[in-house]
Amino acid sequence: MPGAEFDPILTECKNCGHEWMYGGRSMYYCTCPTCHYKNLVPLFGDRWYAAMSRLASIMSEGGINAEEEYKHTNYAISFIKRLLKEDGIDDWRESLEADLEEMKRRRAEAKTMM
Ligand SMILES: [Zn+2]
Repeated sequence: MPGAEFDPILTECKNCGHEWMYGGRSMYYCTCPTCHYKNLVPLFGDRWYAAMSRLASIMSEGGINAEEEYKHTNYAISFIKRLLKEDGIDDWRESLEADLEEMKRRRAEAKTMM
């Protein structure tokens, strides 16, 4: 979701252990301010929603040009790979479960607002 603003998210560098609040727009990589290692952005809260709505729009879009389609397809594939834990991310399942819990909580909240 280009241009989207996200809540800063607590991120821990897998390389040096530095913790910081990542406030950037990426839903994939964020660079550690200390050692410049590229870490995966935790998909949590509003980032999770943005990623899922992006995926939904990719799946429902028709008539997009080849370049866009390529970008969208790559995005979808890389995101799904993250979900399927095929990038060798050992703690991804744990993080995904936390995201799912958050999603359930938000969904329940949304229901009570309706
Ligand atoms: Zn680092």
